[in-house]
Amino acid sequence: MKVLVINCGSSSLKYQVLDMTNEVLLAKGLVERIGMEGSVITHEKIGMDKYKLVTPMEDHKDAIAQVLMAIQDKEHGVVASMDEIGAVGHRVVHAGEKYADSVLITEEVIKALEECVELAPLHNPPNLLGIAACKELMPDTPMVGVFDTAFHQTMPAESYIYALPYEYYTKYGVRRYGFHGTSHKYVSQRAADILNVNINDLKIITCHLGNGASVSAIKGGKCIDTSMGFTPLEGLVMGTRSGDIDPAIVNFIAKKEGLSQAEMDNVMNKKSGVLGISGVSSDFRDIEAAVEDGNERADLALRVFAHKVRFYIGAYIAEMNGVDAIVFTAGVGENDASMREIICHELGNLGIKLDPVKNKVRGKETLISTDDARVKLLLIPTNEELMIARDTLNIVSKLK
Ligand code: AMP
Repeated sequence: MKVLVINCGSSSLKYQVLDMTNEVLLAKGLVERIGMEGSVITHEKIGMDKYKLVTPMEDHKDAIAQVLMAIQDKEHGVVASMDEIGAVGHRVVHAGEKYADSVLITEEVIKALEECVELAPLHNPPNLLGIAACKELMPDTPMVGVFDTAFHQTMPAESYIYALPYEYYTKYGVRRYGFHGTSHKYVSQRAADILNVNINDLKIITCHLGNGASVSAIKGGKCIDTSMGFTPLEGLVMGTRSGDIDPAIVNFIAKKEGLSQAEMDNVMNKKSGVLGISGVSSDFRDIEAAVEDGNERADLALRVFAHKVRFYIGAYIAEMNGVDAIVFTAGVGENDASMREIICHELGNLGIKLDPVKNKVRGKETLISTDDARVKLLLIPTNEELMIARDTLNIVSKLK
């Protein structure tokens, strides 16, 4: 079966077509500037050059229509007609406490996701627009929702309850949800496959270190804790997000700087993280270049980032009473050998030893711990789209 994977943002949309008979990627692309001047689709049939088409796209329905044309294109397409697409898998950010796994999208599911809009006001609305557009353009094709929050639903209450008045949880759903779940699930399963050990017998810490970053503790294949919280702002230091701070700082700075709630939100989400500390960039490549030039704040930003990752690794080792494998993934985790080195520095007492030679690698599944290390360190490129396509295939196969 061929599966179309859709990841809809507010003004952009990413897509892939995978042939799930042998899990091969056939085509991928990106639509940008939806509803703006200069809307553009960039499409790539694997093995051929990319092409760009600038054409008006007023809304997500127009954007999906362009995607469907691109994948059926005579030269660059990968299907002769839409009948070849057996199912669509949609990435959806927030499913609240409603879904602990991917589900077939029905009217009831759409209603439940609409109820989660309040919890993810920036993400769920465009995800829902993508679902509505596909429903209109491909009414007979089954669709599956794959949720960023789902994998973390196995956390015990002591991991997800905040020490606030309990009624904020019951009345408003204020609790830790966690995000990047599809990525944490994918890389933990790959780690078990690579190590050739049943995932039920493993304690794994997965470090998804990208522009957004989170760490998860996965025991026996189930998430028992994760660093992102009620929103993706909590936890690690990120590109532009603060991660954990003393909550009292928010009011203090708002008062000092005369900032509204929305402006404070913007500071913590867009102006903080390694960008805020370094004053250079949110991109680790720019920060590392600045360190080379002797920029001390850039160096501090990297050290603060690594400190927080180490902090969570230590916490999760305590929570699981040990760890068998630590996985690095996403932009920084997959590409930044020097950051992996700083994170793993002097953790030998915990059985964590990075092999500096094996670590000189980028974006490739590799075991990077020393041969004698108790804890296996792995670099595993994440593949959320494949995970979405797998879940989609699984669910749709059971319909027949
Ligand atoms: P992601 O959100 O997973 O796409 O990760 C994006 C981030 O990965 C960028 O902002 C960079 O900071 C980081 N990144 C990508 N390539 C490299 C690299 N070669 N070295 C260091 N950081 C990188």
